[in-house]
Amino acid sequence: MMNLSSTMKAYGCRYCVSPLKQLLHTTNHHLRFRPRSPPFFSSSFNNLKLPNFNLLLTYNSLFFTTEHLWGRSGMNTNKKMVEHLQQYGVISSEKVARVMETIDRALFVPDRTPAYADCPQEIGYNATISAPHMHATCLQLLEEKLQPGMHALDVGSGTGYLTACFAMMVGPQGRAIGVEHIPELVASSINNIEKSAAAALLKKGSLSMHAGDGREGWPECAPYDAIHVGAAAPEMPQALLDQLKPGGRMVIPVGNIFQDLKVVDKNPDGSISIRSESSVRYVPLTSRDAQLQS
Ligand code: SAH
Repeated sequence: MMNLSSTMKAYGCRYCVSPLKQLLHTTNHHLRFRPRSPPFFSSSFNNLKLPNFNLLLTYNSLFFTTEHLWGRSGMNTNKKMVEHLQQYGVISSEKVARVMETIDRALFVPDRTPAYADCPQEIGYNATISAPHMHATCLQLLEEKLQPGMHALDVGSGTGYLTACFAMMVGPQGRAIGVEHIPELVASSINNIEKSAAAALLKKGSLSMHAGDGREGWPECAPYDAIHVGAAAPEMPQALLDQLKPGGRMVIPVGNIFQDLKVVDKNPDGSISIRSESSVRYVPLTSRDAQLQS
């Protein structure tokens, strides 16, 4: 029998339903067990763009849960959010913790949304900012390839939050590129970054945000040590594989209804190794028209 306060972590809950509903509906495919994961309430939300009726269900339960619990715990600052992710083992590296502390998530979420809640937030154009635990997970997976001076590409950069974190990791000698196909989101991501600790890197040009179809990558600055894709590809995009440096790593959700977060390593001889990290739910990596009409 599952214990609600156990260390179970559901990264792939399909419809982001309330914790109770989630427990009734989960299957092994959707669950990921980790020994030090956060309490169920804070980690069960991912990047899903929800149909309206689910949105009501989810956000009602979400607001109830976060306000109720956070009111008691006082976890209402960026620092507390990071400590929480550290406490439950989502963040294990000091560098990732420092960078997530430095880039305040509140600058990247729309007004009147709970900035530090561990869930995705709507950002318009049928897109979301990913949940903090997904940002942390991807930073952890890519950390080795985000050393000072390295090159990183963030496809589907949305609010610019993760691109800003990448820029802080690779530093002024490195290069962080964000590619997003909704020009309005590119513009607002630049505004967000200008208010953040990564503003100087944007000004200097080691961090840049671009409008374009991320399925084609960003060949001008390739090859990349690290590629992150923030939307689910129906299949592995060849252009992104081509733009990965030998020794580089890509983290990409792949699939349609059922998606896996894939960790793709390009070996020094150019061969590719792929493993699945977890089941996830992201918005699709698609055309602009398809996204806006969905
Ligand atoms: N990682 C970002 C956004 C995640 S949502 C954040 O956390 O803020 C996924 C993003 O991918 C959306 O902003 C969506 O507009 C974008 N996207 C989807 N298909 C794309 C494509 N073909 N090219 C570029 N961006 C795309």
